[in-house]
Amino acid sequence: MPSIADRVRQIKATLPPHVELVAAAKTRSPEEVRAAIDAGVRIVGHNYVQEVQAMIGQLGANAASWAMIGHLQRNKVKTAVRLFDSIQTVDSLRLAGAIDRECEKMGRIMPILIEVNAAREPQKSGVFPEAVTSLVREIAQLGSVQIRGLMTMGPLVNDPEELRSIFRETKVLFDRVASEEIPNISMTVLSMGMSDSYAVAIEEGATMIRLGTTIFGPRT
Ligand SMILES: *Cc1c(COP(=O)(O)O)cnc(C)c1O
Repeated sequence: MPSIADRVRQIKATLPPHVELVAAAKTRSPEEVRAAIDAGVRIVGHNYVQEVQAMIGQLGANAASWAMIGHLQRNKVKTAVRLFDSIQTVDSLRLAGAIDRECEKMGRIMPILIEVNAAREPQKSGVFPEAVTSLVREIAQLGSVQIRGLMTMGPLVNDPEELRSIFRETKVLFDRVASEEIPNISMTVLSMGMSDSYAVAIEEGATMIRLGTTIFGPRT
């Protein structure tokens, strides 16, 4: 079995230079995450505030750039902005406003991505594609968050090819928002693709992929 370090080096060797790797760390131990960081992972994604808190307690705040990739509840925002370096899952003006207010108190600017529910799945987080541009315009007026791009999860499928059209539509949307030249935003990050689907996502324009299983092995 290849080690975590072997896997990270292998993945990084095959990624195009414009694609950033996020290690999705849910359920992993600090030792496992440390191994990934030592092998070259710079961004570590967490789904829960408590998880990143524990991880930072073990590894230190400066060990990596900590990214929120799970759904963020508004009552956790105050803690989240003290722990995370970026938040990939902003899908409403209310949530963005709550992040903005806490960041303003701290005198910092939070880089955020807008989470798109590209397949319009009911009961899933993320904003529907047709609502993205107007949401971006509203959030762009807040002074203590900065939109850096879009993120999408995509539905659970058996064959990653089934996600190709979803990724393609998200890239079209990304380019459209970028072409609007909205002040105070920087459309540089398109976060899409996980272990099963990252190859397809990169072909369709991802600049950031989020890998758990491929780096750490199957979750138990
Ligand atoms: C778990 C997770 C991933 C990675 O999943 P794998 O299939 O293990 O690569 C990526 N993004 C998010 C938001 C996740 O929760």
